[in-house]
Amino acid sequence: MREADIRPKPLLDEFFVRLRRDADRVAAKRASFVDVSCGFCGSNDGEAAFEKHGFPYRWCRACGSLFAGPRPSPADLVEFAANSDAVAFWSTHFYKETAAARRERMFRPRARVTADVAERHGFAGRVRVADVGAGYGLFLLELAAIHPSWVLTAIEPDALLATVCRGHGFGTVERWVESVGDGEFEFDLVTAFEVVEHVFDPGAFLSACKRLLRPGGLALVTTLTISGFDLQVLGAESRSITPPQHLNFPSVGAVSAFAARAGLNVVDVSTPGELDIDIVRNRCLEQPTPVTDRFARTLAAADSTTREAFQRFLREHRLSSHLRCVFQRPVSEPNVER
Ligand SMILES: [Zn+2]
Repeated sequence: MREADIRPKPLLDEFFVRLRRDADRVAAKRASFVDVSCGFCGSNDGEAAFEKHGFPYRWCRACGSLFAGPRPSPADLVEFAANSDAVAFWSTHFYKETAAARRERMFRPRARVTADVAERHGFAGRVRVADVGAGYGLFLLELAAIHPSWVLTAIEPDALLATVCRGHGFGTVERWVESVGDGEFEFDLVTAFEVVEHVFDPGAFLSACKRLLRPGGLALVTTLTISGFDLQVLGAESRSITPPQHLNFPSVGAVSAFAARAGLNVVDVSTPGELDIDIVRNRCLEQPTPVTDRFARTLAAADSTTREAFQRFLREHRLSSHLRCVFQRPVSEPNVER
C-alpha cells in the first residue's frame, strides 16, 4: 500500500490548508488552554518538545510519549470538531472521493484483523462488537460481510454520522464513550481505530472502552506511536502531528502503563504499519525537503526492494508509527469502585 492510495496528495494538501486555519482559530484561545499530565502513564514530568501552529507539544520524561499541552478544554475540542473547516472538507470531499479505496485498503483489513483476534480467543456465535468512533460505519459493514451473525453496534456521538450508522441497520449509541457507565453494556469485543490521538484524555477514553466490555472481553485499539520511524524522522514536520486534531502520541513503551491505569491487561502490542518509508520518501520529494536526516534520505531514495525490506523490519521490530494493541478486561477484578 502507498500513502497516495488512501490519501491523494491534492486532497490531503487542501485538507491541511483548512486544518491550519482551524488551528489558528483554536490557538487564538490559547490563554484558556488547560494543563494536562501524560495521558498514557499519568506522569506530570514533561519537558517542552516543540511548538506547532500555536500548540505546545511536550515529551513525557517517564514514558517517552509526546502530547500537546497545555491543550484546548474538552468543550473547546468539541467546538473545534463541530465548526472545523477541515472536518467539513473531509466529509464533503475527502471521504466521498476516497471511500472506495479506503474501504478496500483500510476498513476491510481492519475487519479481517478484528475477526482474527476474535477467532484466536475462541469467540464464536453471536459475538457482540462495539466500534467506538464508528464514523460512516464502513468498518462495521466490512465486519458484517465476514460475520453476518455478529451483533454490531456503533458508538458515534456525531448526530449525522450516527444517522448514517442507523441507516446501515447497526445498533447505534449516539453518545461520547466517556459517558458510558460500567455494566451498561457487555460487549465481547470493542474496537477503536485511530481515535486515541484525537481525544482530550486518553486515560479516560481507555477506561471507558473497558467499561463497555464484559469480563474477559477484548479491546482492539489502534493509534499513532511516536516510537515509529516516520514520526521520529519528521518530528514537528510530520503531517501526523497536526493540532488540534492529533494531540496524543504514545511510545510503544507506554502501552503497559496505559493499560494498567485503565484496569486492562495487555494481550498483544504490534506496529503493523505499511506507510512509514513511503511517507518519508514523499516528504523527501517535496521542495524544500523537511527531511534533514541523511540516513533517512538515503533509505527513502533506495530501490523498492530495499524500501520494502526496511518497512518489514520496522513492522517486525515495533518501529512503525502505526500501533495496534489488544487489551483484555480481567475475568475477575477486585471488588473496588470502578
Ligand atoms: Zn508518560
